[in-house]
Amino acid sequence: MTASHPLDSGVLAPAPFSPHLGVAAASDPVWRNRFASLGDRFYTRLQAQPLPDPIWVSRNRALARELGLEEPWFASQLALDAFTGNVRLPGSDPLASVYSGPQFGQWAGQLGDGRALLLGEIETPVGGIELQLKGAGRTPYSRMGDGRAVLRSSIREYLCSEAMHGLGIPTTRALCITASDAPVRREEIETAAVVTRTAPSFIRFGHFEHFSYTDPPPELKARADFVIDSFYAECRAAADPYAALLQAVSERTAHLMAAWQAAGFCHGVMNTDNMSILGLTLDYGPFQFLDAFVPGHICNHSDSEGRYAYNRQPNMAYWNLFCLGQALLPLIGDQERALAALESYKTVFPAALQTRMRAKLGLPDAHPEDQALIEDTFKLLARNRVDYPIFWRRLCAFTPQSGHDPVRDLFFDRQSFDAWALRYSERITPVNRSIRADLMLRTNPKYVLRNHLGEQAIRAAKLKDFSSVESLLQVLQAPFDAHTDHDELAGFPPDWAAGIEISCSS
Ligand code: AMP
Ligand code: MG
Repeated sequence: MTASHPLDSGVLAPAPFSPHLGVAAASDPVWRNRFASLGDRFYTRLQAQPLPDPIWVSRNRALARELGLEEPWFASQLALDAFTGNVRLPGSDPLASVYSGPQFGQWAGQLGDGRALLLGEIETPVGGIELQLKGAGRTPYSRMGDGRAVLRSSIREYLCSEAMHGLGIPTTRALCITASDAPVRREEIETAAVVTRTAPSFIRFGHFEHFSYTDPPPELKARADFVIDSFYAECRAAADPYAALLQAVSERTAHLMAAWQAAGFCHGVMNTDNMSILGLTLDYGPFQFLDAFVPGHICNHSDSEGRYAYNRQPNMAYWNLFCLGQALLPLIGDQERALAALESYKTVFPAALQTRMRAKLGLPDAHPEDQALIEDTFKLLARNRVDYPIFWRRLCAFTPQSGHDPVRDLFFDRQSFDAWALRYSERITPVNRSIRADLMLRTNPKYVLRNHLGEQAIRAAKLKDFSSVESLLQVLQAPFDAHTDHDELAGFPPDWAAGIEISCSS
């Protein structure tokens, strides 16, 4: 355990609202806090601001098990208080980190953890995992914000990070949500909540941009060395480890973008401060999974220009990688080498997307005509504004030359669908039927966190009924399984779903 913190005496920090004194028990997490060892130019140490009378909204027992957190500990009053920010766990070393970057394309200067608090890093069976509270109160980086997160956005983040994990898409995860009746002002008065997020690291592109304006400061090198030594050890042996890091990050990002596009996921706020250095989906705000396939769909009501529209995400990720390259330039030293490190994005992304789309089509082997088939599938879906998740799930049961076909019902232009179906039938004829069905059922989820499902769970949660959060969590963590008792969560969106407006306000 780290013993450097002044409050580390084995006794918990005072808790104004939920007093709880105790000594570290055998089942308490073991902390090592590598980020804190970087030094205080990278962060400000501080304590969370308590919230009155916290309650559990949801606890993610599956994740707790993976992290080796024992159920009695995770269910305890101590955990409830600690994950609300009302007490500090012995051995944790809470801090808010500083980063900088552009917002919607314009340089915004210093940003930072305005409402996130890194508790530290615990040792787990899956390696070092950082625990972070989101919504734990003001920090030196809060700017005009109140440091809080509301119940609505916390439920969205919690469910979506677990949904992404269930889909096999790299993401930060969410361990629990706690809530309080403390009021928080947004467009209207809402109430506060805290999500505990986990990841091997929450380092963002913006953490590098923060140190990039001055001459190569030692901090930039220290940060890059930390990331290489902790997460990209293979780059150390390269002729230029920093160019190798840039290339490795850009390739992970390319894979992430392929996963988003194939899943129909729109992030909504792809500023560089929301881009993970580990290629994880990070910071769930106005995200949306597509209902109808509309390539130019803008999920963020605040994004009037459509900068982060669904079909622009791969290009925006590349723009962001360019910013990261610029930030690393003092270490790489040579512009050509930095540009060369970004080149593979242009081949890795399309190859990764093709692999994912072939799997969705049930094609285990690549054929030269597959790319054209995939592109034409996207065009057909767009022209008919077909429901994206339901198309793919129904396609799992498609058989060539069947009479009535439920996939066909999704298209108003039946002739174009028939032509496409003929072409697809020819392509799948040589493919073993059960191999195809198996591949498709593992790739095309039955359950997707559509906006209206999140919205229904939020409305109930505001009335203190958390059962929908729980049932959504269960199906989204295993979204390819049938869960026949929850068929109602796999249907078309209701008409009112089109009117849901999600903005940056969270
Ligand atoms: P994001 O919406 O995640 O892109 O946030 C952009 C910046 O605003 C980050 O530095 C956040 O920490 C900060 N921020 C967002 N909401 C709040 C809030 N309610 N209080 C303080 N800072 C915030
Ligand atoms: Mg953010």
